[in-house]
Amino acid sequence: MSNIVIQKFGGTSLADTKRFKAVAKIIKETSETGKKVVAVVSAMAGETQRLIDLAKGVQEIPDPREYDALISSGEQVSVALLAMSLRSENLKSKSYTAFQLDLRTDDYHGKARISSIDTKNLLMDISSNITPVITGFQGINEEGDVTTLGRGGSDTSAVALAVALNAEECQIYTDVNGVYTTDPNVYENAKKIDKLTFEEMLELSSLGAKVLQIRSVEFASKYNMPIRVKSSFTNEEGTLINGDENMEDALISGVAHTNDEAKLTIRKVPDIPGIAAKIIEPISAQGIEVDIIIQNVSEDKTTDFTFTVKREKAFEAKKILTDLSEEFGGGEIELNEDISKVSLVGVGMKSHAGVAATMFKTLAENKINIEMISTSEIKISVIVKEDSAHKAVKSLHDAFNLEK
Ligand code: ASP
Ligand code: MG
Repeated sequence: MSNIVIQKFGGTSLADTKRFKAVAKIIKETSETGKKVVAVVSAMAGETQRLIDLAKGVQEIPDPREYDALISSGEQVSVALLAMSLRSENLKSKSYTAFQLDLRTDDYHGKARISSIDTKNLLMDISSNITPVITGFQGINEEGDVTTLGRGGSDTSAVALAVALNAEECQIYTDVNGVYTTDPNVYENAKKIDKLTFEEMLELSSLGAKVLQIRSVEFASKYNMPIRVKSSFTNEEGTLINGDENMEDALISGVAHTNDEAKLTIRKVPDIPGIAAKIIEPISAQGIEVDIIIQNVSEDKTTDFTFTVKREKAFEAKKILTDLSEEFGGGEIELNEDISKVSLVGVGMKSHAGVAATMFKTLAENKINIEMISTSEIKISVIVKEDSAHKAVKSLHDAFNLEK
């Protein structure tokens, strides 16, 4: 390990020239502790969206190559401005675009994946006390055309650079203090989490997605690169996400909820071998991801089969089921979109029985009906009616003392 740290600054941290100066101060202070900072930046607040809207103004379905050339340009403004801000703090600095670094990706414009980074120039800079400032979000493909990594992709750029440079950690500076035990907009008792494992962060992605591109966490997990999420406004400790599991890990780290699922039930399917495969196969063949599945016991040789999919795919899935049900003489298809998934997440769960019992009891006491349940080693999820989701989140947050 080196003494290199990546510091990534998002759009809100770079909203105006004053903010660039504030960010330069953070980098300077870190450098003064003996760390070698490599900065990664996004476009200034709102800039990427402005560019996307411009594209739509001239071409309904923008040409992918030109679209990426356009929407990656916000980051180019940011690197130059930050390098200048650092110079006015008397720090030597140099800006780099993906092209200058030969930061290669595959060819999927708009959602490219990084394949390699040439660190030669960066390492030379670092050894001569020059702070490199690198464009997040962009790469180049085989042809040298600019690609982009998907919205929020500069987090993934930062983690990839951290891995390539064998950095100590990857610090993601944003406008919140870290990841919270639940959405503070839903429950005011939400508390900042000090430490999370990669696994937990991935399971809590609905809480984390606002602070971090989830793909960056997958990347960090794969290469065991610690991520620290912190605010560029307060510079408090933040949330550390790494691979360490230890005895002090909280039983429950957080409670998340999502409203982007729908529940499909196919009635009166014959209870014979092969039916589950028959139902699920054509659904996944369409690229529709199935989340929770329940099949009931049969009383009259037929049963109900229920599962959830992303809400945006619900109609497509319903159509497939309608055709299927006709084929094997099943009953009608029911579609429920007014559902929420509420999930309790914590590595501490692995070694503690009784979490599920407490969870279900709490929901019962609050007269919240559980429609479906699924569990993994570190997560218990329930499907409830959407209008009771906030109540579920609050009561579980209380029951597990997450405000402490
Ligand atoms: N500027 C890009 C976006 O707004 C990338 C990023 O912010 O991470 O999505
Ligand atoms: Mg972001």
